[in-house]
Amino acid sequence: MGEKHPFVTKEQLERAAATWPTPFHVYSEKLIRERARALEAAFSWNPGFKEYFAVKATPNPALISILREYGFGVDCSSECELMLAEAMGFAGEDIMFSSNDTPAREFAYAAELGAQVNLDDISHIDAWERAVGSFPAFMSLRFNPGGDFAFANGIFDTPGKAKFGLTEPQMLEASRELSRRGVRELGVHALLASNTVTNEYYPALARLLFELAVRIQRETGVRVSLVNLSGGVGVAYRPEEEPNDIRAIGEGVRRAFEEVLVPAGMGGVRIACELGRFMLAPFGALVCRVTHHKHIYRDYLGVDACAANLMRPMLYDAYHHITVMGKEDAPATHKYDVVGMLCENSDRLATGRLLPEVEEGDLLFIHDTGAHGHSMGYNYNGRLRSAEVLLREDGSTRLIRRAETPADYFATLDVLPIAERLEELGARRGSPGVKRKTARP
Ligand SMILES: *Cc1c(COP(=O)(O)O)cnc(C)c1O
Repeated sequence: MGEKHPFVTKEQLERAAATWPTPFHVYSEKLIRERARALEAAFSWNPGFKEYFAVKATPNPALISILREYGFGVDCSSECELMLAEAMGFAGEDIMFSSNDTPAREFAYAAELGAQVNLDDISHIDAWERAVGSFPAFMSLRFNPGGDFAFANGIFDTPGKAKFGLTEPQMLEASRELSRRGVRELGVHALLASNTVTNEYYPALARLLFELAVRIQRETGVRVSLVNLSGGVGVAYRPEEEPNDIRAIGEGVRRAFEEVLVPAGMGGVRIACELGRFMLAPFGALVCRVTHHKHIYRDYLGVDACAANLMRPMLYDAYHHITVMGKEDAPATHKYDVVGMLCENSDRLATGRLLPEVEEGDLLFIHDTGAHGHSMGYNYNGRLRSAEVLLREDGSTRLIRRAETPADYFATLDVLPIAERLEELGARRGSPGVKRKTARP
């Protein structure tokens, strides 16, 4: 069985918690940089290679700007994500817009930014024309091969049941149609499985997309210049899992490239990816404190965080490893359910988890929340989302997102005079926040 270690010491966390009370997500700048360099190296054989970080995974500009130093772009799929990209100064080829069920105004916004657009359906060709008018020189199409996506040791997932992408006949028809409307170069994209913990997913996907690219170019005469392997490369959430080896993955993709694209005269194709989880998940953690110990039919640890801060266990029954800070080497002798304060029995961060004996006041380090962690948070039960803190390479910490306040929660209400009363209450309770701009008519 493998081991998982926190990337931060108890002393560093206690010091941070003295300034920014728990719960908060903490991210390691050092490990993020190491991962970015490893990805770059693994695909350095492809001169056009580019990672477009999936903004939805962790939409924090302080983290995205670290990734940007390695030449990464951003993958957006909503108006707010495009706004974040624009505010950070991303434009043109540095933005991939891989959306689905897309509102017309978002197509128009992507066009305005000159983003590379990845259409999710054949009907989106007309939708784009209605929203934008003309077509850019480059467009990409998202592929769904249907059925199961299988490999030697099993199946990765079942694309036949997924809402995304075009069928193979539609890919060919859409390529011809885009060409008729002025598009000169095409990209092909697919995301066929999530959180794959095997080095075989990307190479198998690459082979499938490379073969499709050759077929599109041969049968329609339109040049395919980009293959986008998207996200889906996973991380080892469980200690017994073997983490993916990005060098082996890059090498597997290179082999497929040389066996399929090079002989077809397509050795100039650019490889893109839209990794979110693989880039950041292991390098963020949710830090919370044990506030209650309750023993009824089972043993419960109540913490000061809940599904508002980390929804994956509630949503997918996902496993997040837990380290009790200061008891890293103590034997795991007690079985606990680690729960939050939502009035929902599914609000738990772990169920039946073996841990060392825990006391109230202990700090818990909940691993692997650096992607799809804070960003999935929500406000059910009037719970507020936590702060985000960056652990810098010199060991110091910096606040990169403040915690929400009651004023944030009430900011969208416009029922005067209750809104004004809430503002007064917030001030009285010492939780000031965003000042409302509303006034009585
Ligand atoms: C979610 C998503 C990603 C990122 O997926 P990860 O599992 O975080 O790597 C990339 N591209 C698209 C279109 C997505 O929807």
